[in-house]
Amino acid sequence: MTQLVDSAIAFLREKGLRVTEQRKAILEVLARSDSPISAEETYALLPDKSCDLVTAYRCLEQFEKIDVVQRGVRENGTKVYCLGHSHDHHHHLTCRGCGKTERVDLCMAKELEEVATGYGFVEISHIMEAFGLCPECK
Ligand SMILES: [Zn+2]
Ligand SMILES: [Zn+2]
Repeated sequence: MTQLVDSAIAFLREKGLRVTEQRKAILEVLARSDSPISAEETYALLPDKSCDLVTAYRCLEQFEKIDVVQRGVRENGTKVYCLGHSHDHHHHLTCRGCGKTERVDLCMAKELEEVATGYGFVEISHIMEAFGLCPECK
């Protein structure tokens, strides 16, 4: 876990982002969570509210821009974040009942890109998340 945070911090420096206590605290919260979490959940888990909610939102957006976190989305449209670079691209399978998340190392990016290119689109990105009920909740 600390290794995850350390490498994320090194990455921030590399990208010229100042390593503030707030950013560090947010990275630590993400590293501790084993499923993707929203800005509000991240904020709620911060030790003694090291920053305000707006700052948490902004930090996560910056992290996404420099590719130190990956963004996903829940069924209700809430943006969620997990620590990791895009070369470690993956998806999630989330339980609607308890929120438990499994990592899915399966992706149809290639097929999607081919279709999108066919329409003349460039710089293709995608978000794909799967939802269901886990064995305990079904
Ligand atoms: Zn469940
Ligand atoms: Zn994918």
